[in-house]
Amino acid sequence: MQEQAIAWRQAGDAIGFVPTMGALHAGHDSLVARARRENQRVIVSIFVNPAQFGPNEDFEAYPRPFEVDYARLDALGADAIFHPPVEQIYPPAFKTHVDPGPLAEVLEGKSRPGHFAGVLTVVLKLFNLTQPKRAYFGQKDFQQVILVRQLVRDLGLPIRIVACPTVREPDGLALSSRNAYLDPAQRAAAPAISRALDAAALSFGKGQAHPAEHESTARSALEKIPGSTIEYVAVVDPTTLRTPARAIAGSVLAVAVKLGSTRLIDNVVLGAERL
Ligand code: AMP
Repeated sequence: MQEQAIAWRQAGDAIGFVPTMGALHAGHDSLVARARRENQRVIVSIFVNPAQFGPNEDFEAYPRPFEVDYARLDALGADAIFHPPVEQIYPPAFKTHVDPGPLAEVLEGKSRPGHFAGVLTVVLKLFNLTQPKRAYFGQKDFQQVILVRQLVRDLGLPIRIVACPTVREPDGLALSSRNAYLDPAQRAAAPAISRALDAAALSFGKGQAHPAEHESTARSALEKIPGSTIEYVAVVDPTTLRTPARAIAGSVLAVAVKLGSTRLIDNVVLGAERL
């Protein structure tokens, strides 16, 4: 992969890179389509990264429909699909890890200790293997975008991180490979998550600037979902990931909620379209 990528770069082609864990849906498609528009070469990785899963998470169960994904990426015009075996990314002698620091300890990081160290370690390795000029990430995983931007800035990587809007089902549910785990009743209830975010965004639009008000509006909507467990509901500043005294345009309302054993996340940028 790295030899091919270097050859493309030496030929003057810009590489757009889309890292994924496969089980592709229209959210992934939107990243690949944007990479296709903006670069001469597009590389998509499919790698279910064990380092970003906790011991009681769904690493083994995570869907791996490789043939279907391959056909989908072929149709979208990807130039390369990088699908390495785990031992190639993490050979037995592998020792080095990225420490993402304090922004990885809150929100997702608090619920999933070690998750972002696993994400940034594999992202850095995949960047080195694929040599991108631009890399494409979904806003649905907003804390991941913030931490990958931090990685690029702190370590001086010559890569532009492009954040792409969250693609949703017609009823508002953010597309996620994990939606496949929902039973019909959970699937029917799940759009309440995005409705809760929309309600808070609407009240922000009408002048409500108290984070606690937005959090409690969203929390009470999420509590009504049968069988739900709220992990966090927080208005945060996207640079510090701390809750500001007052919500401003660009503040992010982020939620994580479990429906039964399926953990879903979503967020909205208040008063703005995107990060
Ligand atoms: P994953 O395969 O879940 O690791 O996701 C790969 C990339 O697709 C990440 O940058 C995600 O943020 C992005 N992504 C996942 N779901 C969506 C969605 N509904 N809309 C846009 N991007 C998404």
